[in-house]
Amino acid sequence: MAEKEMVYCGLVCAECGAYIATMKNDDKLRQAQAEKWARQYNIPVMKTSDVNCTGCDSQGVKMGHCATCQIRTCAKEKGLKNCGYCVDYPCAQLEFVIKHYPVARKRLNNIKKGKK
Ligand code: SF4
Ligand code: SF4
Repeated sequence: MAEKEMVYCGLVCAECGAYIATMKNDDKLRQAQAEKWARQYNIPVMKTSDVNCTGCDSQGVKMGHCATCQIRTCAKEKGLKNCGYCVDYPCAQLEFVIKHYPVARKRLNNIKKGKK
């Protein structure tokens, strides 16, 4: 995974099922992602019409945690490529992503340690 594909929090939008379903405008993929999240987080299955995201740094629609995320704003204000370069990493704002996406934590930890 090239660091350039990674967004501020360590996630890669191109790997997210909601992003992929939105880019393909595919309701079967939206349904599959909604069912995956329902199992993963023990929540009701979302409506397919609610599974839409055009990516972290786009002007378009975002959903779930990404719709209200302050990580992007914070990192941009600090002029950082991602949170791995932040002196305050890992901060409380990253708690949700770090808890639910160990792969993001690992990527950011590697950057923090100077490994890419
Ligand atoms: S909106 Fe926030 S949580 Fe979502 S991908 Fe961007 S930085 Fe990560
Ligand atoms: S304080 Fe640092 S680690 Fe936390 S969200 Fe802002 S840039 Fe990321």
